[in-house]
Amino acid sequence: MVEIRGLSKSFGDLEVLSGIDVTVEAGEVVCVIGPSGSGKSTLLRCVNMLEVPTAGSVHVSGVELTHRDVDIDAARRMIGMVFQQFNLFGHLSVMDNVTIAQRRVLRRTKGEAERIGRENLAKVGVAEKESSYPPQLSGGQQQRVAIARALSMNPEVMLFDEPTSALDPELVGDVLGAMRQLAEEGMTMLVVTHEMQFAREVADRVLFMDEGMLVEQGPPSQVIADPRHERTRTFLARVL
Ligand code: ATP
Ligand code: MG
Repeated sequence: MVEIRGLSKSFGDLEVLSGIDVTVEAGEVVCVIGPSGSGKSTLLRCVNMLEVPTAGSVHVSGVELTHRDVDIDAARRMIGMVFQQFNLFGHLSVMDNVTIAQRRVLRRTKGEAERIGRENLAKVGVAEKESSYPPQLSGGQQQRVAIARALSMNPEVMLFDEPTSALDPELVGDVLGAMRQLAEEGMTMLVVTHEMQFAREVADRVLFMDEGMLVEQGPPSQVIADPRHERTRTFLARVL
């Protein structure tokens, strides 16, 4: 489903990712953990070409996004992304936020876009907010709207970059709950997170990154509970 091969990324002289190989199978949930600056966000950003890799390839559902002839806008439609900051349009209602790309990009009618938007708002537990504006919502509600917006584009895969780290602690659970439900429904997910309990309970596989390298990967019962590498142990000792 997502195939990352030999991915490297440099900014000037700084090599931020070095030869990363990762596969995320259809329906799999893969969590990425690692210290600040280890390249987690850059990895996600390379998957949808928000950053252009220096070397290597990325395939999503068989389409090579790194190919020079790819229709990148069409390819990106397969990928939903949720960031730490919710990036909602503050001057648009919740419903308009979840329908605008459906209408402009997928050319859905207003009625169809609203039906799909409403379905996804309900799925993440914010159906009653469709007429509100983002500034009137809590951070956790805004983040769930951002998830509903991404889902409404029918992505093949969802990328999450620390979706709960800007939230007050009491709001984190609602967002993780929505993500957990999505995982149970079989969504393919690549999630950068500091939430070790989420990774332990929801991830099929955990990747530990350090200094731009994939140090180890495996089921959470191995990588989190019984890591093989000293660097993973040191990191976990600080965050657990
Ligand atoms: P955090 O946990 O703090 O979010 P991260 O693992 O997501 O960290 P990245 O944001 O991927 O780390 O950054 C990896 C490295 O790449 C850092 O050293 C960062 O300073 C550098 N970097 C990221 N984006 C750029 C850029 N646009 N130009 C130059 N350097 C960058
Ligand atoms: Mg980051």
